[in-house]
Amino acid sequence: MNCKFLDHGLAIGYDSVVKPCCAWTGDQTWKKQNHLSQVSLDTWHQTNSVIAIKNQLSQGDWPKECTVCEQAEFENRGSIRGDGASAYDNYNSNDITLEIRPGSVCNFACQTCWPEASSRVAQYYHQAGIMDIKSINSNVIKQFDFLEPIAHRIRDLIILGGEPFYDKDCLRFLKWATHNLTARLIMFTNGSAVDWEWVDSYPGKIVLVFSIDAVGRAAEYIRFGTDWAVVEQNLQKARTHPKVELRVNITMSAYNFHYVNDVIDLLTPDWPAVVSFGIPDELHFRESIIPIKHRDKIIEKLQKSLENIQQAAIESGQKSHATNALTSLIGNLQTQSWNQESFAKFQNFVMNMDRVKKIQIGDYCSDVADMLVE
Ligand code: SF4
Repeated sequence: MNCKFLDHGLAIGYDSVVKPCCAWTGDQTWKKQNHLSQVSLDTWHQTNSVIAIKNQLSQGDWPKECTVCEQAEFENRGSIRGDGASAYDNYNSNDITLEIRPGSVCNFACQTCWPEASSRVAQYYHQAGIMDIKSINSNVIKQFDFLEPIAHRIRDLIILGGEPFYDKDCLRFLKWATHNLTARLIMFTNGSAVDWEWVDSYPGKIVLVFSIDAVGRAAEYIRFGTDWAVVEQNLQKARTHPKVELRVNITMSAYNFHYVNDVIDLLTPDWPAVVSFGIPDELHFRESIIPIKHRDKIIEKLQKSLENIQQAAIESGQKSHATNALTSLIGNLQTQSWNQESFAKFQNFVMNMDRVKKIQIGDYCSDVADMLVE
């Protein structure tokens, strides 16, 4: 057993700790020894601790830091390790994928996002008494010179925020990248503030991954901060821009089970290169919180979406990926019993977020609001 991330992956977390991939769960000792200030990125894959992990895996023994992949493979789901096997297939031995989070300032406060990834979510969590804003680790990376020794080796670069086109540190990083890199950039964006001038100026290829969970009013609630007209305009521009590969990530949660069909309708006429379907970790955002009597309506809409996907001109791998995601959602809605405890947690969460955001779910997502009155 091996993992290509241990040869080619470099992920720098919000805490400035270096890991091979985003799924890696290092303990305090790992964090101390692999803090950005303590490592040389150029030789990091040859350090004793990384070699020890490679040796352990090669003997068929899962390192404790790789539990996420171990669990996924045990359950016969796709793992990040598996994704790496194909993604790094044509990498040379020196090539690197770097994943970096230059800052966490975001102009949105999406309902299923987390405080480390969005300053605005952190602010609302603080106001709602869910967490103390001071407990958030905000190691902002201000200088990027430390990347110079590996700049020529970076083949793919994944930028996570905050919103990369809004956070000042991310914007500074994008400027640095224009002068120092030719790697393919993969950027996750909420689509509200794409800097098209920068897109034109960057010398390499750019993959824009738009996070879209719904369209119109529902989008404006679920990804709070959205002006749908602006996001849609940027999405259309990304679709046709010669330098951009468009991807879309849909987070499927109790907020948008009713509205995923609208996103599918938006995408089917010209399916992006990749459409991925994320699932939040929190139980109170999942299928089991949907009261039984509200499920048939959702299932009906999803089945219509499945028909639309079947009829649309979509590349076969993408077609089966989307079909599997929606079929699995339908299956869970048909078979899972109602989790009253998680439902109450969701009700409470919605109430708290609406209070601090000074909005009302009923004004944006009437189907979800109806479901909450149980
Ligand atoms: S096995 Fe999974 S968690 Fe471990 S390094 Fe590889 S991708 Fe990361």
